[in-house]
Amino acid sequence: MTQYILASANPDKAQEIREILHSELLHGDIELLPRPTHVPDVVEDGETLEDNARLKAKALVEATGLPSIADDTGLEVDALDGGPGVHAARYAGENATYEDNQRKLLAALDGLPDEKRGARFRTIALLRNPDGSEVIAEGVVGGIIAAEAKGDGWGYDPIFIPNEGAGRRFAEMSSEEKHKLSHRGRAFRKLADLIGSN
Ligand code: IMP
Repeated sequence: MTQYILASANPDKAQEIREILHSELLHGDIELLPRPTHVPDVVEDGETLEDNARLKAKALVEATGLPSIADDTGLEVDALDGGPGVHAARYAGENATYEDNQRKLLAALDGLPDEKRGARFRTIALLRNPDGSEVIAEGVVGGIIAAEAKGDGWGYDPIFIPNEGAGRRFAEMSSEEKHKLSHRGRAFRKLADLIGSN
């Protein structure tokens, strides 16, 4: 049994990573331990998703001595030249809520037709070991930004319509349906395959 620390401080993300990795993938031979609460928040000031995932995983390896798994995710919107990208969490400001970010993005794209509302989520999943070795996987899902928010979901889920989701927003899907299509599902299934084959 290998123990990994799940480096994410965002409970919505941590829950999804647990669901994805525990579904059919890792067959009970790993244990995902929660991030210890005494570890201070990691400042995510890297320039890329990979930099930020590494900052988080490294901080948890240093704090616990255990291998750690981190996720960093960006939302790339074509009409914003790929923005907010790596800055998606702080798009509407330092302490922005999910709703603040959704509102700002809807306003920025106001009036644009669907063909100009293209976007993609990109996740980097990163495992870092105490010896500094790493396993890294990327997952991407394309879609469009809806004209209005709908459904019950976190982050940008109420306004993101993935290409292969029959026109529904992520926030209108069950978590199993979302994980099948999502950036995070794709990244962590790949990561699990890579860990399993090492
Ligand atoms: P970070 O990886 O914590 O930096 O997340 C970046 C931003 O993207 C945050 O504002 C999240 O709310 C948002 N985000 C990350 N993953 C998802 C997702 O699966 N659905 C919707 N929003 C997400």
